[in-house]
Amino acid sequence: MTIHPPSSAGGPKDPAFEHAQALRRLLHQYNHSYYVLDSPQVPDAEYDRLFRELQAIEALHPDWVTPDSPTQRVGGVALSAFAPVHHAVPMLSIRTETDTDASGAENFDARVRRELGLSPQDLPLEYVAELKFDGLAINLRYEQAVLVLAATRGDGAVGEDVTQNIRTVGQVPLRLPEDVPPVLEVRGEIYLRRDDFEALNQRQRDKGDKTFVNPRNAAAGSVRQLDPAIAAQRPLSFYAYGLGEVTPGVFAASSHYEWLQALKRWGFPVCEHTSLALGAAELSAYHRHIANLRDSLAFDIDGVVYKVNSLALQQQLGFVTREPRWAVAHKYPAQEMLTTVQAIEVQVGRTGKLTPVAKLAPVFVGGVTVTNATLHNEDEARRKDVRVGDTVIVRRAGDVIPEVVAVLPDKRQPGSPIFTMPSLCPVCASLAVREPGEADHRCSGGLFCAAQRKQAILHFAQRRAMDIEGLGDKLVDQLVDQEVVKVLPDLYRLGLTALAALDRMAEKSAQNVLSALEKSKSTTLPRFLFGLGIRHVGEATARELARQFGSLDAIMAASPEQLLQVPDIGPVVAQSIRTFFDQAHNREVIEQLRACGVHWPEGVSIHPVLSPLAGKTFVLTGTLTALSRDQAKLKLESAGAKVVGSVSKKTDYVVAGQEAGSKLDKARELGVPVLDEAGFEALLSQLAADQPAGTT
Ligand code: NAD
Repeated sequence: MTIHPPSSAGGPKDPAFEHAQALRRLLHQYNHSYYVLDSPQVPDAEYDRLFRELQAIEALHPDWVTPDSPTQRVGGVALSAFAPVHHAVPMLSIRTETDTDASGAENFDARVRRELGLSPQDLPLEYVAELKFDGLAINLRYEQAVLVLAATRGDGAVGEDVTQNIRTVGQVPLRLPEDVPPVLEVRGEIYLRRDDFEALNQRQRDKGDKTFVNPRNAAAGSVRQLDPAIAAQRPLSFYAYGLGEVTPGVFAASSHYEWLQALKRWGFPVCEHTSLALGAAELSAYHRHIANLRDSLAFDIDGVVYKVNSLALQQQLGFVTREPRWAVAHKYPAQEMLTTVQAIEVQVGRTGKLTPVAKLAPVFVGGVTVTNATLHNEDEARRKDVRVGDTVIVRRAGDVIPEVVAVLPDKRQPGSPIFTMPSLCPVCASLAVREPGEADHRCSGGLFCAAQRKQAILHFAQRRAMDIEGLGDKLVDQLVDQEVVKVLPDLYRLGLTALAALDRMAEKSAQNVLSALEKSKSTTLPRFLFGLGIRHVGEATARELARQFGSLDAIMAASPEQLLQVPDIGPVVAQSIRTFFDQAHNREVIEQLRACGVHWPEGVSIHPVLSPLAGKTFVLTGTLTALSRDQAKLKLESAGAKVVGSVSKKTDYVVAGQEAGSKLDKARELGVPVLDEAGFEALLSQLAADQPAGTT
């Protein structure tokens, strides 16, 4: 970098001179990451702060300004992977008004009027007010109404040929009506809608790829994809807002607004929020109006742009180094800011889901002060590697909850520990479980955990479970918030006075709730089981468990292997049931519910999972005299055994009747126990004797 020799004041020894040099180095580095790598190191607000600092120093010392200072140049450099495109008309930047309040519009209007030599008595100027889309500028060149070239801005003079990628953007017309000027360059913004951005990042996460920090980045990264097939998968959008080279005289328009209307007629998307505005007052009103709309827009904007409408006046105003004098960007509070992580807390949701949340030093972002940002789950927290003490970029855009999008590794304190999810629920100390194939950890103390109380009660009380009429959302909110009900059994301990004292609870309705509670005590095992809210145990599974095991005690005592033999119960469900009943707190709640009088008919089991033969493998060979082969098979299967055709090391028993052949030999060879017909009958009668009363 060439530094001009200092003149009158200051010089290489001057700390301000050194600081300016340091700022230029830093801004160059940030520019490279932002424009070339499409991966910013710091939020725009931080970049803008440093940029303004450099501008201020350079304003005081104009002779220190270097031609390659970031304040003198537009954007980045073109990637050599793309063919260079020399812009016929330079693609410039836009000056930013530093005031984000109404004075931004007033300052601009006053400056333009001054430069045009207008006096206060002259009429207000006409402007076009537009959204400042947060995407990537593109120049589309049409020759004889056909798209022939699409180029990025690059350094303003030379951009990159990204025609292949832009052809995949549905909103960019490939052919125009015949009557357009033979050479027509249309400028606009390629951007990603917020929902498309979220979906793209989700796909990146699913593939284990790096996620994009924001839609602007994702759009820029997609346009500058070397593989058009990948670009085609990215749902990019486009808005037209200006012109480059145009064959003169074919279409006569005297204003920017007329041009925009023509572009619309020719098939270009022009934003519906683009509007004419008279004088500073209407520009300010536009700024306020769009500020109110900002969150509800489908895409990110970082401000609004004001442009002098008359093309003749635009020409008269002309340009300064890197920006036209006839346009200005009037920004809104940044949607990304830097802050520090003070702690990482794990919160437990109504359904028991554990979510790591970064506690942040308060930061004003996207128009609100943010102190919390979700880290979603263990994988996300690890992938971003957010640690306590880190400096992070926080993003809040639209109604999306604030998010930590990146960590600044350079600012990490040495020795800060990697975040790990707790193994116990931070609210109730039950086991926190992450099931295979799932991203979330969940608390397994559903019946006891204070965080899940409301959800657990509503689930328990619903019609398909305990059917406690009148125990709805509003009542449960009050019962839990006022700590009248802390655990489920407290429901059955409610008295008339306590209930009637609640909001909107007359004595009559309180009495009705008490009667419904009393009635609910007499239930069925499937309803009770379902009401417990065991993860993955829906009504059908609850019914099947009750049918197979007959009693709650038997289910609570069942091993995962025994549970696995119930139709439709796989390893995940079996483990979930087991973990639930392993939590002492959950068992205690069940105990208390029974003590409160909740009961159901028990003892009818049809499943042999409690049988000693459950899961055992049998092979039948030879002829049995008392039973046919099918009858023997049926008896074994209804005792939970499997009957297979060939003998292997995994076979538990071979039943050998008369004239048993090679299977018997094989059993002997492998050391598999062999039962003769007498032994088999003894086994069957032993089983019959072991069955509990009332079983079938
Ligand atoms: P700019 O992006 O602020 O403004 C010019 C651009 O605005 C145009 O190129 C165009 O793409 C866009 N634009 C959107 N709507 C428009 C409309 N209606 N009419 C005309 N143009 C419209 O200026 P810049 O010089 O491209 O870049 C500066 C911006 O880039 C700043 O916001 C800065 O913070 C950011 N930046 C950030 C980093 C970083 O590290 N975070 C680095 C470099 C630049």
